[in-house]
Amino acid sequence: VIIGSGPAGLTAALYTARANLKPLLIEGLEAGGQLMLTTMVENWPGFRDGIMGPDLMAEMRAQAERFGTEVIQGNVTAVDITRRPFTIALQDGRRVSAAALIIATGASARWLDIGSDRKLSGHGVSTCATCDGYFFRGKPIAVVGGGDSALEEATYLTRFASKVTVIHRRDTLRASKIMQDKAFRNEKIDFIWDSEVVQVNDTTKGEVTSLVVRNIKTGLERVLDVDGLFIAIGHTPNTGLVKGQLELDSSGYIRTHDGTKTTVPGVFAAGDVQDHVYRQA
Ligand code: NAP
Repeated sequence: VIIGSGPAGLTAALYTARANLKPLLIEGLEAGGQLMLTTMVENWPGFRDGIMGPDLMAEMRAQAERFGTEVIQGNVTAVDITRRPFTIALQDGRRVSAAALIIATGASARWLDIGSDRKLSGHGVSTCATCDGYFFRGKPIAVVGGGDSALEEATYLTRFASKVTVIHRRDTLRASKIMQDKAFRNEKIDFIWDSEVVQVNDTTKGEVTSLVVRNIKTGLERVLDVDGLFIAIGHTPNTGLVKGQLELDSSGYIRTHDGTKTTVPGVFAAGDVQDHVYRQA
C-alpha cells in the first residue's frame, strides 16, 4: 500500500506495479500533491518547453495505472505499523491491510504564526498563487518569503496584480539566481528587506486592507496597503500518521536509511515527507 499521490507516491506505484507487487495507492484529500497547485513546470527533464503541473500529475497517474496500480480515494486517519500485516484506517470506515507500506504523504504549506493570517485564509490571505491570484486583478498585493516559491509566486502574480511587494526577513534571497534575476527585472515587483509581517488588517467584512510590517533590524513598523497576502515560507512534512511509530529527524522529517527504509522493517518513506534537502518532484 502506498499513501500519497504526489510524484513520490506515483513513482513508487509505477515501480512496484512493474515489479508485480500489486500496489494499492490511497490518493488522499489533495490528490496529485503540490504540483496540482502550480502552473508551468520548466525544470522537469524531458519537457523542453515545460509542462503544466496538473498535466504532469495526470500523466504520472496514468502511467502508474497502466501497469496495474489500483488507485482509491480516501482520507487515511490512522495506520498501525506495530504488527504485520500493517493496517490502514480510512475516514469512511474502510480498513486496508498491507504486507509493506510506503509513506509518501508530502508536506504542507507553512503559515506565519501571527493569528490574523490564518483567520483571513481564503479572504485575502493565501498560500497558493495559482489558486487565488486571479482574485487580485489590478490590486496591490504582498508575498512573504525569500525562496524559489516566493519569487515564483511573485512573478506569476504580476499577471494579475497592479504591484507585488516581496517581504523578506533577511537582506539576501535564498532563491536560485535565475529566479532572482527574473524578479529583479520585473518592474511590478518591489522588495522590503529585513522585515516581517506582524499583523494583517481587515475590514469589518473580513477583507484585507493592509499589513503591519516590522523591520527586524530597526524595530520600526510601517503600514503597507495591500488587498492580498501570499505566504510562501516553505512547508512542514505530513508525518501525523506515523508520529510515535517511526523515527523522525530534528526537523520532523521521517528518518530513512539505505535510501527509503524507515526504522520499521517493511515501512518505507519517499518524497517530501523524508527529504528536506532536494524537495523537488
Ligand atoms: P524554502 O527554500 O525553504 O524558502 C523559504 C523562505 O521563507 C526562506 O527565504 C525563509 O527565509 C522564509 N521563511 C521561512 N520561515 C519564515 C517565517 N516564519 N517568516 C518569514 N519568512 C520565513 O522554501 P520554498 O521556497 O518553498 O522552496 C522549497 C524547495 O522547493 C526548495 O528546494 C526550492 O528550490 C524548491 N522550489 C523549486 C522551484 C523551481 O525550481 N522552479 C520552485 C519552487 C520551489 P530565510 O531565507 O531567511 O531562511
